[in-house]
Amino acid sequence: MNYTSIFETIHHEIQPFAHLGQQATYIPALARVNPNQFGICLHTLEGETVALGDADVRFSIQSISKVFSLAMALHFEGENLWTRMGREPSGTTFNSLVQLEYEHGIPRNPLINAGALVTADVLLAHMDNPEEYFLEFLRTLAGTQEVCYNPEVAESEQSCGYMNAAIANLLKHYGNIRGDIDRVLHLYFMMCAVEMNCRELAQAFLPFANHQQPFGYAGITLTTSQIKRMNAIMQTCGFYDEAGEFSYLVGLPGKSGVGGGIAAICPSRYAIAVWSPRLNAKGNSILGMKALELFTTLTAESIF
Ligand code: GLU
Repeated sequence: MNYTSIFETIHHEIQPFAHLGQQATYIPALARVNPNQFGICLHTLEGETVALGDADVRFSIQSISKVFSLAMALHFEGENLWTRMGREPSGTTFNSLVQLEYEHGIPRNPLINAGALVTADVLLAHMDNPEEYFLEFLRTLAGTQEVCYNPEVAESEQSCGYMNAAIANLLKHYGNIRGDIDRVLHLYFMMCAVEMNCRELAQAFLPFANHQQPFGYAGITLTTSQIKRMNAIMQTCGFYDEAGEFSYLVGLPGKSGVGGGIAAICPSRYAIAVWSPRLNAKGNSILGMKALELFTTLTAESIF
């Protein structure tokens, strides 16, 4: 498969959509990002790497971090984790309060904010310095010590994170946050503020594509069965209120973030990351989704 020429075709075909949408503005530090950037990187399990555009520019991974924190929480808690959250698509926005109240403080799944806040609480119960361990885990997965978080983005989000604070308070009310709310929010915002580029993100997702091998990075281990289940959750819950649309158009398990990044995997084949800050109304990168739709169509390599 000539992935280089496929990437060039994709780059050409997405141009008519390049000025649609805008970057997330509700986190002030993200509003300042140049929206006219596009990067994509593929790593295959055979060791081939193909990148194009701004694949080496780091960006705020935002909700993509929820995949990594889930992997850590599953390592520590195993199946017990599901006593505190579900694994069904939410069908509502990522920061919905209404659904959480109806469902008595049990988040629908780990990839919406409420679920990720419970996950952060789990990590705090198991580690003295989860911020440091989270970074070490990501550095090991991405194969570089250069992965860091951007304190300005974390503070910017904290300063206007009223919805997340409301969700955390509701969770606490229902007894589903056991630790200190401010501590949970601090860890959550820090994880969202990690910066990676497409090359690093695709590398970090490759173990999820290698689903027949047990997972072991920086002391975080998952069985092949747990990787299978993580991929299932990414497929059904990884794209906000648009997981069905992403399955229909692209057909890969993955996760998006409001920074404009999307990371996805094809089991036994590859991991791919794409980034472009302009979002659609559901919060997913317009060019990112378009590029992945073209990629799985041109290669006929998706899970369907
Ligand atoms: N830090 C963001 C928030 O909680 C994450 C949003 C996202 O990427 O979905 O609002």
